[in-house]
Amino acid sequence: MAEKILVIEDEQKIADFLKRGLIYEGFQVQVARDGETGLASARDQLPDLVILDVMLPGLDGLEVCRRLRAGGSTPILMLTAKDSVADRVKGLDSGADDYLAKPFAFEELLARVRALLRRVRPNEETIFRFADVVLNVATRQVTRGARKIELTTKEFDLLHYFMRNPRQVLTREQIYERIWGYDFEGESNILDVYIRYLRSKLELNNEPRVLQTTRGVGYALREE
Ligand code: CA
Repeated sequence: MAEKILVIEDEQKIADFLKRGLIYEGFQVQVARDGETGLASARDQLPDLVILDVMLPGLDGLEVCRRLRAGGSTPILMLTAKDSVADRVKGLDSGADDYLAKPFAFEELLARVRALLRRVRPNEETIFRFADVVLNVATRQVTRGARKIELTTKEFDLLHYFMRNPRQVLTREQIYERIWGYDFEGESNILDVYIRYLRSKLELNNEPRVLQTTRGVGYALREE
């Protein structure tokens, strides 16, 4: 059964971004736009995980977090406005299990969500295979055949996104939103640059190409 995630976030753009991405990943998603509504939803719906924004109208996120924590052990991922140590300490003090500073890319959030859910349900799939490429989410290791491949965080997230959606064309827009975030604006060739990096690492020994270009649309993980 799909895991239920409650998103407590007043900012429409971010709430929509989270809802769209999480539904795409197979979660059930409910959004509350303020703290009181969020607390009521948490009581009624018993979500498997709560994503909670710190800056909320009315009851702020820290207070919501304290009250949620007093009522149970549902994992809480807190979204903070800035990555300051003080904010982080306040969030963790109020009982959050993890926190993420805005702005963030969807893949970053998804990795945190899955890690928190794994603590509760340790059997979730962590190893992805495509052809001779193996990606382990838990250890963040990637191999091709017997060869270990060192990837940066963004390269890993990008490959992980492809490995979860094999043989599907992922559009440039989808990839930008997932890997670079909802605040990523404008024309850019950064994606093409990263695809080049990934290909050069994946094809170091002249192995067959697995990341294919669909001209004008995007890229797909596919054998030639
Ligand atoms: Ca907010």
